[in-house]
Amino acid sequence: KAKTAGRNVVKLYDETMSNQAIASVTMAANLKTAIDRHEFSLYFQPKIDLDTGKIKGAEALLRWFPEGGDPVPPDQFIPVAESTGMIVEIGEWVIREACLQCKRIHELGSPDFAVAVNISAVQFKRGNLEHIVLDALYVSGLESKYLELELTESLLLEDEYDIKGQISRLAAKGLTFSLDDFGKGYSNLGNLSKFDIATLKIDQSFVFAMFDTTQDSALVEAIVRMGKSLGLKIVAEGVETQRAANILGLLGVDFGQGYYWSKPLPVDDFICYAGIGKEASKAVSA
Ligand code: C2E
Ligand code: MG
Ligand code: MG
Ligand code: MG
Repeated sequence: KAKTAGRNVVKLYDETMSNQAIASVTMAANLKTAIDRHEFSLYFQPKIDLDTGKIKGAEALLRWFPEGGDPVPPDQFIPVAESTGMIVEIGEWVIREACLQCKRIHELGSPDFAVAVNISAVQFKRGNLEHIVLDALYVSGLESKYLELELTESLLLEDEYDIKGQISRLAAKGLTFSLDDFGKGYSNLGNLSKFDIATLKIDQSFVFAMFDTTQDSALVEAIVRMGKSLGLKIVAEGVETQRAANILGLLGVDFGQGYYWSKPLPVDDFICYAGIGKEASKAVSA
């Protein structure tokens, strides 16, 4: 009996694996043509200054709407784009588009608006990133200080590719860097001070957990305290309620991002939401 069950389990597992393999090969093939077919779109989600309640800028988040198919979430296609190296070309489009849209927002009357773009490790390793970033700034006419690059912790553990040098050369040109999903990974804060990083983004899981136990609120507090002692700005992701926004503000978190204010929106909808072009920038309650 147990043997039969065991065999079935193995068989099911095998089928799942091959389906997954087929799915990712198919996805890779479709991704290859997605840029040419204009299937990608960049959405903006506001980052709110918790002291003033004003929009400071936005994070640019990639969306894929394959022709004739369902939208594919980034958590599904980004890993495929990374493993095939296609993230280099897709990421270049993201950087260019983010700069153009940010410049457009400046011209609409919000000249302090900043845009943040997610950068994969692959783009640092074989992406000619410095050239691509500087070119996108040049083409768009956006000043470098309005472009922020979001990195993940594992990149900073990389020994090769002169990651530290790549970051510091771009920082010297005026770009800012933030560490995304902080707390999820290796979390060596001491190591952090070696890099030109200005901001910590506390992973949303810590923000959600804040309401489970008192222990977890202490964790956010500790991250804030350590981050501040290193002179870093703190952003909290996954802010879904007014209560979360209030508590995070009291804990000294500088900026918030989350569904409480807005989901990521198509840029035109974002411009409307933010009241850009109507007044300098709309104040939303924090
Ligand atoms: P991320 O950079 O940590 O982005 C934050 C994610 O949290 C986004 O998911 C956003 O929609 C979601 N989010 C924002 N506020 C809330 C909230 O209040 N509650 C909840 N439950 N979720 C919230 P999204 O857009 O699906 O992106 C997922 C991940 O895909 C991103 O995580 C990022 O790692 C990656 N990604 C997205 N766009 C790009 C891109 O252009 N390039 C690269 N390399 N990665 C990207
Ligand atoms: Mg991010
Ligand atoms: Mg994140
Ligand atoms: Mg504050």
